[in-house]
Amino acid sequence: MKPFDYRRIQSVEEIGRDEPGQARFLAGGTNLIDLMKHEIEVPDRLLDISRLKLASIEDGENGGLRVGTLVTNTALASDPRVRKTWPLLSAALLSGATAQLRNRATTGGNLLQRTRCFYFYDTARPCNKRNPGEGCSAREEQNRIHAILGASDQCIATHPSDMAVAMVALDARLTLRAADGSERELPVEALHRLPGDHPEQDTVLEPEELILGVTLPAPPPGRQMYRKVRDRSSYAFALVSVGVILHVVEGKVDSIRIAFGGVAHKPWRAHKAATEANFRLAAEAELADAKGYDNNDFKIPLARRTLVATLRDAAHSEEEVSA
Ligand code: SF4
Repeated sequence: MKPFDYRRIQSVEEIGRDEPGQARFLAGGTNLIDLMKHEIEVPDRLLDISRLKLASIEDGENGGLRVGTLVTNTALASDPRVRKTWPLLSAALLSGATAQLRNRATTGGNLLQRTRCFYFYDTARPCNKRNPGEGCSAREEQNRIHAILGASDQCIATHPSDMAVAMVALDARLTLRAADGSERELPVEALHRLPGDHPEQDTVLEPEELILGVTLPAPPPGRQMYRKVRDRSSYAFALVSVGVILHVVEGKVDSIRIAFGGVAHKPWRAHKAATEANFRLAAEAELADAKGYDNNDFKIPLARRTLVATLRDAAHSEEEVSA
């Protein structure tokens, strides 16, 4: 591990002081510390934000909920308000990692975790995300866990978060604080980038821009469901996951919200089948542009079948959640 400066900060005002070099925020550290050990992340300064007062969950306006960036995944998943009104989020969180990791991992850190592409962590192999211009090992080699939507010639990695998939389906919004102290809001859906020609950039955040928290609006009426398909039932990332909110009125589909995980460089909000009553046609529409890279060709029919099965289960579920 390369030497770095460490500072535990007591207030957000300490962020953005005119100091040289690259800084990273440290919260739970469940991904960043591993990346530093591999020398994939080599910050000059580590700003430990874990003591900031950003670990509360508060009622928001119009039936919404404000979640501080330091709220742990366990605390968020087990909050009675989340379990009752946003069960999609609770289910997605509980499907991620292990209990130990969820106790440590934070809301902001979960969103900013990096891909689990094998070659990103293998510093002996070319990787455009780690070293731009070096090439992408995954395109021609082991790409079983890689993207089928929105990939580029430069990178076919996927984003690993389950929580982010639920937040995208729920239209959650971020509150961000820039290094100059100004604040802005951003939909979670707009946080992550597609790889394009710059796969080294995972998000649209500016340097030292901090996620202060996430606001969950009151959910739309309908049945919420999260389904994750993976190689084993615990401590595995999604091959494909699906979050849905299905509203059925008098036996007819009124509206559908769909987000996929494990299929793209970002949580993938699927907008093409907002009212399609035939679930098979809805799945075909959403995956019409999907493209495999040999090892991961199986993900296309898997995503289609997972979406159809999840929508059918939601249609028959007795758990309806109203805003
Ligand atoms: Fe690197 Fe992306 Fe290629 Fe993986 S898929 S080797 S992260 S460039």
